[in-house]
Amino acid sequence: MTDRQPLLELKAVRRSYAQGGGELEVLHGINLKIYPGEMTAIIGPSGSGKSTLMNIIGCLDKPTSGTFEVNGHDTSQLSPDELAALRRDFFGFIFQRYHLLGHLSARENVEVPAIYAGVKQGKRAVRSAELLTQLGLAERIDYKPAHLSGGQQQRVSIARALMNGGQIILADEPTGALDTKSGAEVMKILSELNAQGHTIILVTHDPKIAACARRIIAIEDGAIKSDQPNDPVGIGTADAPQELSSSLVKNIWAKSFGAFYDRFKEAFIMAWRAMLANRMRTLLTMLGIIIGIMAVVSVVALARGASEQIMANISSLGTNTITIYPGERMGDVRSGRVRTLTERDLNALSGQPFADSVSPSVQSSVLLRRGNLEYNGTAQGVSADMFRVYGYVPAQGRLFTAQEVERNAQICVIDHNTAVNFFGTQDPIGQTILVNAVPLAVVGVLEEKDSPFVRPDSLNVYMPYKAAMTRLVKQDYLSSIVVRVADGFATAVAERAIVRLLTARHGRQDFFIQSSDTIMKSISSATLTFTLLISAIAVISLVVGGIGVMNIMLVSVTERTREIGIRMAVGARQSDIMAQFLIEAVMVCLIGGFAGVALTFAVGSLVQYFAPTVVLSFSVLSVLAAVITSSAIGIVFGFMPARSASRLNPIEALARE
Ligand code: ADP
Ligand code: MG
Repeated sequence: MTDRQPLLELKAVRRSYAQGGGELEVLHGINLKIYPGEMTAIIGPSGSGKSTLMNIIGCLDKPTSGTFEVNGHDTSQLSPDELAALRRDFFGFIFQRYHLLGHLSARENVEVPAIYAGVKQGKRAVRSAELLTQLGLAERIDYKPAHLSGGQQQRVSIARALMNGGQIILADEPTGALDTKSGAEVMKILSELNAQGHTIILVTHDPKIAACARRIIAIEDGAIKSDQPNDPVGIGTADAPQELSSSLVKNIWAKSFGAFYDRFKEAFIMAWRAMLANRMRTLLTMLGIIIGIMAVVSVVALARGASEQIMANISSLGTNTITIYPGERMGDVRSGRVRTLTERDLNALSGQPFADSVSPSVQSSVLLRRGNLEYNGTAQGVSADMFRVYGYVPAQGRLFTAQEVERNAQICVIDHNTAVNFFGTQDPIGQTILVNAVPLAVVGVLEEKDSPFVRPDSLNVYMPYKAAMTRLVKQDYLSSIVVRVADGFATAVAERAIVRLLTARHGRQDFFIQSSDTIMKSISSATLTFTLLISAIAVISLVVGGIGVMNIMLVSVTERTREIGIRMAVGARQSDIMAQFLIEAVMVCLIGGFAGVALTFAVGSLVQYFAPTVVLSFSVLSVLAAVITSSAIGIVFGFMPARSASRLNPIEALARE
């Protein structure tokens, strides 16, 4: 025997646990060689360190000192993934308490190690059915562990141990939780497996069980007391092994392309099942994301709707006008003192090729009177062109002419509001109203017009600007000049030309201009600011939702610590565990994101049905951003819990109930 290469070799292995500030040594320098094809029983009283030893042999735990070699390879030199590969392809673990995954059927439990080995579903299904049938569970293939007896569960766990080959079967008190009959069956299976060439290591405190083995190692207080060959007798024995394999760590599955994709798909399915298993909790977690996404998408839709509506209003004015005001900007307090905007500027501008028509305006708040009626209103001294500039048309009577402006005619055109207030249903044409103290004859009434620039309840009286300057406001400068840009000229070009012309005339720029273009720009920048602001608030609610996801994932990891331990024991890599939890977090967020978008659309169409004036404009971009944001939240907030799951120590995880 000595010239053969041992399959497993422990050299001076010690294991101690930190306990109450000190160290408690459980294994005191174990030296042990296990050869291929052996069936070894490790026997000892409870607490003697059998499980500790077994966990080290199964690469679930590491020695504190000493070395453990598998096929001559020092396991302390192996990476976590390589250790996972050993557990997956080489060892098959059988636990006293079966350690099956409760939410999976017998077949699915058996397939778990093959999933981590990257085996295609078809192959997996065939082998798992085969193994379960061999172990007498053909009729129980789709049963969940809860519906199986202890003996049946233990047979499922044996099938799982064999799924990837199970060259070495490690059984820690496999009969400990079973009645005598089921225990004997399990022992018979193990003996048969040994006869087929599997190396078996069995831990027990029961001498009758140990008697089935071909070698018995007695352990007491963490040290080997005796190590003897045994002629197997007792409750389930089989013939001597036919063939002693000493192959290296080998994978019975041919490596396949797409194994990575398969593992990903399996991680996805596992995550999906975990979500379904905790529907209520998943739903509540999603709620945070749903609300956040709804907030973002609907706020953006509302803001876009509003700004589109305003833009449409402005362009419905149809005219392309540029207004020149004295002063430096809107609301400049000194603009009243700037008196350089004059009739001569007006004439200069009307000679320009880009000017379709030009109108001055002198504006004054006035008291309008007729008989015993008195209202505050605005008198606007304008030229005949003004009506063309703004596209105003008379509803009754006529507009005034350039000759009347030149003649200082004391006439006026009133707007719809003024007509209604002073004349009711009477015909106002030819009647006189007093503007401050100046009597003006009404020659026309304007059409009622919706405009974003005119307050709907204001009263406006339009009179020839020369008459206004001499009789009403008594000033020789203009309040503003409006230029209607001729067709074929770009507003921006006209703006620049106006600035150049007037700056040259005045010697400096003591005026500012405003066009429908600049108004549109300022409105869109205002709505953008508004949208950004509200979106920021919505994003905060998304972050809060994300923290909710993180919380739930942490709970989920804690709750499923034992599951993680089992998965690691059968060969899951750290990355497999990580992927499973990360995918779960991302899925919760993504589904929440889609639900949020769908709900927003649903609520949006309801709102538009009941309140058609509210304009919602959904943008593909905001929906896309919402979906991307929610998956990002899943990744960011799922990462921490997923990582802490993947870093769990398999033994501690398994010990958790
Ligand atoms: P056996 O399987 O032979 O019953 P174990 O190997 O489970 O014994 O345990 C051996 C000794 O090590 C026991 O005294 C137990 O209390 C101790 N022990 C096992 N695991 C831990 C741990 N994680 N921390 C501290 N002490 C432990
Ligand atoms: Mg034990």
